Amino acid sequence: MFLILAMNCKNTKKIEEIRKRLYNFYGPLNWWPADNTFEVCVGAILTQNTSWKNVEKAIQNLKKAKILDCRTIAEEREKFIANLIKPSGYFNQKAKKLKAFCVFLKENYGCSLNEFFNSGNVEDLRKKLLSIWGIGKETADSILLYAGNKPVFVVDAYTKRVFSRHGICNEDVEYDQLRNCVENTIYKNVSFYNEFHAGLVSIGKDYCKKTSPVCNLCPLKDV
Ligand code: SF4
Repeated sequence: MFLILAMNCKNTKKIEEIRKRLYNFYGPLNWWPADNTFEVCVGAILTQNTSWKNVEKAIQNLKKAKILDCRTIAEEREKFIANLIKPSGYFNQKAKKLKAFCVFLKENYGCSLNEFFNSGNVEDLRKKLLSIWGIGKETADSILLYAGNKPVFVVDAYTKRVFSRHGICNEDVEYDQLRNCVENTIYKNVSFYNEFHAGLVSIGKDYCKKTSPVCNLCPLKDV
């Protein structure tokens, strides 16, 4: 299995070089912006297909309505939640996802994230998260890394774009192949994975834009 994954991940030295350069360029970015681990999970669900600014507005609405906690969301009407999280887009679907996550946490762990994160190894936890309606791989891994402090590398569209433009993989690489490739290359360390993902998102937004990358000013230009 590993051989197949490694074959699809060319030039692992480049991955380490990119990680180092991003860290040297941006310094510690200290993700994820949130007041507590539950808020990290909510942000990870709401950020699907939208900008972080819109997520912040939705989270503020949940805070103002005093319903930003697992038990309340699990018991609240979906329509009421949807109305509050409108700024994040796809609000009906996201309300359903938020509720599904909170119901899962309430019914299995009494709404305790600590209990959940201590209920198995990383792969067990990942499977449990992926079994919840609406939780995909990127969301599950964001929750594991940024809320659970588990050494899991989060792959997103920025990662695929930067890596493919540097000849490390194809842009349509399968999620787990790239995740395994990075986890087999970079020392398994929560802080490394936290900063690496944050750096890749930042470089994707600041320089490695979808249609017109600004390579001449980018800190990765000669990698
Ligand atoms: S902007 Fe250019 S140099 Fe920077 S990451 Fe993208 S492809 Fe690489």
